[in-house]
Amino acid sequence: MTALTTTPAQDETSGWRTALPHVVPFLGILVLALLLPFVSNDYWVLIGTRAAIYWVLISGLNLVVGFAGHLAIGYVALLTLGAYTTSVLVAGNVIPAVPVFAALPIAGLVGAVFGVIVGLPALRLRTFYFAMSTLGFATIVTQIALAWQSVTGGGIGITGPEFPAPFNTAWGFYGLCIAFAAVTTWMSANVARSRFGRALIAVRDAEVAAEATGISKPKMLIAIFLFAGALAAIAGGLFATLQTYITPDAFTFDLSVLFFIAILIGGRGSILGPLLGTIILTILPEIAAPLAAWSTFLYAVLLLVIVLVMPGGIAALLDFRNRRPLASNRSIVPRPAALAEIVRQRKGGKLLKLRGIELAFGNVKAIDGLDLDVTPAQIHGLIGPNGSGKTTTLNVISGYYAAKAGNMTLGDEALPPGQPTLRAPCGIARTFQTPRVIGEASVLQNVMIGGSIEGRATFVEAMLALPRNGEDERKLAAKARALLGVVGLETLADVRADRLQHSELRFIEIARALMLDPDFLLLDEPAAGLSNDEIERLAALIKAICARGTGVLLVEHHADLIFDICHQVTVLNLGRTLAAGTPAEIRVHKEVVSAYLGG
Ligand code: ADP
Ligand code: MG
Repeated sequence: MTALTTTPAQDETSGWRTALPHVVPFLGILVLALLLPFVSNDYWVLIGTRAAIYWVLISGLNLVVGFAGHLAIGYVALLTLGAYTTSVLVAGNVIPAVPVFAALPIAGLVGAVFGVIVGLPALRLRTFYFAMSTLGFATIVTQIALAWQSVTGGGIGITGPEFPAPFNTAWGFYGLCIAFAAVTTWMSANVARSRFGRALIAVRDAEVAAEATGISKPKMLIAIFLFAGALAAIAGGLFATLQTYITPDAFTFDLSVLFFIAILIGGRGSILGPLLGTIILTILPEIAAPLAAWSTFLYAVLLLVIVLVMPGGIAALLDFRNRRPLASNRSIVPRPAALAEIVRQRKGGKLLKLRGIELAFGNVKAIDGLDLDVTPAQIHGLIGPNGSGKTTTLNVISGYYAAKAGNMTLGDEALPPGQPTLRAPCGIARTFQTPRVIGEASVLQNVMIGGSIEGRATFVEAMLALPRNGEDERKLAAKARALLGVVGLETLADVRADRLQHSELRFIEIARALMLDPDFLLLDEPAAGLSNDEIERLAALIKAICARGTGVLLVEHHADLIFDICHQVTVLNLGRTLAAGTPAEIRVHKEVVSAYLGG
């Protein structure tokens, strides 16, 4: 397997070569930004400064809105909070005056804490309800700024902080804001490219699959709310300086909408798109200004056109790579033999045991006293008519549902019921009856998500691109590429997953599950929608996985596949075991034949 045996030096150069096309547009924008003072006047430098400050906020908010998919529409609140915290600290009207370069990080800390407070409802509230809660917070902050006169100056306001030389001129301050913007771009891009960025998109688009790979939604969200809150508050400090004097009126709802729309027209899951969106939205009103009476109208029309004509935003417009047509006569040719180089060989191992499991949905007894043993290095077939409880059984094992009665053990230890994120650490991986992949992510990224819990770098290490994160990324990417080779999809690694065929998605899910190097693999109808050739290849692949010592629980309708490769078969009917035994026994079992096999 080439991917696993490349030397670090080779990885490094190929890493650079793949990263370069992504970096060039950002460098281009930076060069243009640095040239601006030489080719324009004070007026444009002011607009440039404003765009840079907005971007400091939006680069963090982008992870919340564009990556995690939460409609945080009231982020002006955190800008306000940061602006007042910095101004009040520097003015010294509460505690002795603090230098502005110390006040900014303090505001960042305050913003991080409030970022989490504003964000926490996202764990329970969805879409518009969460949007409303962030708006509510924005109103509260403005009201406090108005009412707390002794500190904030109330309606009269307070002077914004002044920076020392050389940042006290328009040019100097512009340079400082560009530096902040460059650093926050770098940090948010680092997060986005790391396993944390992938996990955010996974929770957004395939939450159940993300949980099954061990990704914890609360931990992920708290990390990005801290990050986005801190950046928003720091942007607030800079904003107060730019305004020179702040009153609650400076923080309008329009500003909040601008932040949000910049991300919307930029495109979900992109950094470059929202950056361009921010620049466009900051410049647009200035260009439209000569048309005074019409400017708001034009602004609105332009926004509508952009959203209607490019639903994927600027990012989709710039995604040239995914416009190349794919070969239409592709076939999936797995190479199970390559597994030996990626997955370890197990000997012995624990038994996965279910006893007396019961689960009902209202009056429907989906599982009614089920006993099941899944043995390492064996394939256990689970068959039965539609609605007999096969998928529900997998959902109980993988912790998605908590059984009403009965117990589950792995070796001597009980498997905690109803805790899906705890299955991956126990070595239990699964696929889904309807493939749950992230359409907007590449095939490779989808597979890499399967190994999320193997990463060792912390969020901060990822944000600062420290060596341990690089190591994680190289390991995960190499393993994912190798596994794509095993399932026969390596040529599609860089293609967006929503462009693939259904059958290919099934194999992506298997590769993703194998990233865990699981002790047990639960497969829910992996052969559905596959051609006969593909089913044969799938059978060889499952056998090879089992030969490495993994216990496979295979839910399937294709009786041939079940009888060909299974060591044990359990037949379900109405949530109960109708029969259990070897394929040879089941094949001739009277009730099974009459009820299910139809012979
Ligand atoms: P199978 O996978 O064997 O086709 P399932 O396990 O999906 O069957 O379903 C078993 C029974 O439980 C069916 O009667 C189904 O309608 C019911 N069921 C499954 N999931 C739910 C749910 N989330 N809510 C209500 N009923 C459900
Ligand atoms: Mg099912």
